[in-house]
Amino acid sequence: MINKKAKIAIVGGGVAGSSIALYLGQLGLNVTLFEKEPSLVCGPPFCHLHAGGNLYREISDKQCITLLKQSIDFLRFYPFVVDYRPTIIVLPTSDSGTPDALLPRLELLKGEYEAFITADPNNKVLGESADYYTLYNREQIELLKQQPVVSKPQTCDEWMIPVAKNIDLDKVQFPLIMVQEYGLNLFRLAAGASLALEQLDSVILRTKTIVSNIQEECNADGWRVTYIKGNQTHQENFDYLINAAGFRTGKIDDMLGAPCKRMVEFKAAYVSKWEKYDDTLFPEIIFHGERGTPQGMGQFTPYPGGYFQLHGMTKEITLYEDGLVSNTALSCQPQLGQNFIEKIEKSWTQEETNQRTKSAIKHISQFIPDFSHAQVGAKPLFGAQQIPGDDPTLRVAEVSFPVKRYARCEIVKVSSVIDMIDAIVGQLIELGYLTRPVQRQRDFSNMKSLKESDIKQYAQSLSKARDYPLSLANRNMDTP
Ligand SMILES: Cc1cc2nc3c(=O)[nH]c(=O)nc-3n(C[C@H](O)[C@H](O)[C@H](O)COP(=O)(O)OP(=O)(O)OC[C@H]3O[C@@H](n4cnc5c(N)ncnc54)[C@H](O)[C@@H]3O)c2cc1C
Repeated sequence: MINKKAKIAIVGGGVAGSSIALYLGQLGLNVTLFEKEPSLVCGPPFCHLHAGGNLYREISDKQCITLLKQSIDFLRFYPFVVDYRPTIIVLPTSDSGTPDALLPRLELLKGEYEAFITADPNNKVLGESADYYTLYNREQIELLKQQPVVSKPQTCDEWMIPVAKNIDLDKVQFPLIMVQEYGLNLFRLAAGASLALEQLDSVILRTKTIVSNIQEECNADGWRVTYIKGNQTHQENFDYLINAAGFRTGKIDDMLGAPCKRMVEFKAAYVSKWEKYDDTLFPEIIFHGERGTPQGMGQFTPYPGGYFQLHGMTKEITLYEDGLVSNTALSCQPQLGQNFIEKIEKSWTQEETNQRTKSAIKHISQFIPDFSHAQVGAKPLFGAQQIPGDDPTLRVAEVSFPVKRYARCEIVKVSSVIDMIDAIVGQLIELGYLTRPVQRQRDFSNMKSLKESDIKQYAQSLSKARDYPLSLANRNMDTP
């Protein structure tokens, strides 16, 4: 049973806000989603489904298992967002770690994945559990190096061929590890979520609308939301408030006087074009390294058409001096420097785009020498994100309920949204807006009914409107 009169306000139409709006809207609840930008999911980027957290050696096994579980749930909820290509984990010879040190965790994750499949066969979304990871020694890589590249790779070996042909085998430790961590396409998520939300009568979508103030109603049984659209200021009352304002979550906390502790981090990834490989499908490749040092992890993420998104976990590439800030006793909103806010709200200079993208290309070229011929492909993908608490290595976080009738979403990885939704639904049941437990529903009909051609077209129109190449809206698996 659903209380159709109860009104729910969601501030922020990123992955968190759009996903909860979709879920509650499909249950028939009366939802209003406020987003200050013209389209949904236009905050910080994402390209990797952390199905096991193998990019983060520093986090606990527990966080890795949660990331694996949440990624399976996410993939089942948003199947059209996932780009099915594996990730290769490479340890450079310069790294103090060894591939062997990673194996116990990979074995643990393989066992956990097997258990998830046993619990529900529909969880088998990352292939066979026995193939969760595969090791390649130098002899195998030398043999694959002699093989012709396959236009549509199907097997692990076929995915590995372009890697074998291009990485400097003397600079890496063996074995190389292939793991079934796939890619994510943010433009397709924005497109699919927008199309599905537009079909829901129970959801009011207010884009280009800024929530400027929120006050508790006098009788403390709801919230008075003030918002600005165009030049007009409006007020509306709601029973329940969901704060999904991303790195600006603290501003809403300040309006409510909610207790808080959080950080905000600005990061950027760079878009390069490697003409020579405009029709070769690569897996994602991770070159491990210590975060924040000149040898910080390098991440090479393929898109069709020879575009590669690059991260380098050094201060000259992805991370920034003063890019990580905490809130103070005076405000729940951590204050990023004006240079970061200008990047987010206005634009980058061509000079900084060129400089940082070229540094990223150089970083990756240490291990893929021919990649030094790559060029700047587009403006960076960037943004600031929230991290609840005071541990900057935290990778799993969902939602908290610091004040009655108030949910504060603070995801760090996009796959956490399904657990976030479950927790909010639990609260709505407690408050009586849903009068009996709702079985988690993953296969909503209106998501299923979305047409691939509509998602593709919408995703491409968003990448164009945001000034990115059309290729970034496409998945490698869709390459003709
Ligand atoms: C460089 C980089 C790479 C990343 N890569 C990955 C990855 O590969 N995989 C992964 O899982 N995660 C990745 N992340 C993290 C991921 O991007 C974030 O976890 C996720 O996007 C956060 O989504 P959100 O909905 O919480 O916030 P946001 O996407 O920031 O959404 C918040 C929204 O609220 C709106 N808003 C704020 N205040 C108001 C207001 N007052 N009124 C109206 N609207 C408002 C904003 O305009 C915004 O659209 C990456 C982050 C960065 C910075």
